[in-house]
Amino acid sequence: MGDRVYNFSAGPSMLPVEVMKDAADKMLDYEGSGMSVMEMSHRSKPFENIINNAEANLRKLLDIPDDYYVLFVQGGATLVFAMVPLNLMTGSCKADFLVTGQWAEKACQEAAKYGDARIAASSKDQKFSFIPKLSASEYRQDADYVHITWNNTIYGSKFSGVPDTGGPMLVTDMSSAILSERFDVSKFGCVYAGAQKNIGPAGLSIIIVRKDLVGRAKESVPTYLDFKTHTDSGSLYNTPPVWCIYIAGEVFKYLLARGGIDAMEGINRRKAAKLYGYIDGSALYKAPVAVEDRSLMNVVFVTGSDELDKKFVSEANAEGLVTLNGHRTIGGMRASIYNAMPEEGVDKLIDFMKRFEAENL
Ligand code: PMP
Repeated sequence: MGDRVYNFSAGPSMLPVEVMKDAADKMLDYEGSGMSVMEMSHRSKPFENIINNAEANLRKLLDIPDDYYVLFVQGGATLVFAMVPLNLMTGSCKADFLVTGQWAEKACQEAAKYGDARIAASSKDQKFSFIPKLSASEYRQDADYVHITWNNTIYGSKFSGVPDTGGPMLVTDMSSAILSERFDVSKFGCVYAGAQKNIGPAGLSIIIVRKDLVGRAKESVPTYLDFKTHTDSGSLYNTPPVWCIYIAGEVFKYLLARGGIDAMEGINRRKAAKLYGYIDGSALYKAPVAVEDRSLMNVVFVTGSDELDKKFVSEANAEGLVTLNGHRTIGGMRASIYNAMPEEGVDKLIDFMKRFEAENL
């Protein structure tokens, strides 16, 4: 890896070195075009191929059924927090939310601007340390949808199964879990994710939406926020983030060549099991999330002392294990171990944790 560090950032985060090297090789001349993808018209033939292949490969990876659109948009997952209610909370104008972290809360607060967004359950009073399990009768059966956040990036928890709502369709924010484990797209009306964790550079979001759900936004909805704008134009209504889409497409190819989602999931489960296994057996570290709800992507842990946590982060940093600080709102440590974090990075982290434990206990 040369001088590269193991970067445990929650996002933007590590991308596959092979993809970046190949993109660097083609930086000035993309496949004989004499220009960089960054300089390329989004209406050109080469870019048409890039976006079409990116979509086709994402469909393959996630097994996306034909009755779903795939959209490439800007504005991050945060803008999708508004797009979802503006497009989908248009029947009864009610939506139920499982508030399992700060991002879920933000999605709910955004929807509340446009309709009746209700918190069906929240784990906030227990520091979001678990995923509430509800029975179908606890959801409003006339809700337009139930919104969940599959993986809670800040607290390090995740759903391990699709909740049974008894009727209302599910919408999920998959930002920090997409491409890391198998999930069934057809169980959701809409799945969305910001790119900057498992997909590619920041500046791109992906929305997967069932075709019959498009065209329900009110006239007054801003053009860019109407799903139909993007489905009608193949995500080329205005200038898309061409470079991000290109790199995302290269990441998709890279994942397919390595066995796709099932292969990734196997590696991710092994990486996470090693790290949690070590933490649970140690006398110094604790993982606060309920065992059955632990994230595969964001491993949150603490020593119990703020001072020691800070020392940990700073000494790890000096050894090339960087961005291990927890989210600025909760402190402690967080190791984000997305697809592109090599297993060797997790092994090095555990070695460091052992040494730190021996020196500080
Ligand atoms: N949802 C989740 C689960 C996230 O982790 C994040 C960002 N880390 C967001 C939404 C917000 O994403 P963005 O910064 O792309 O708006």
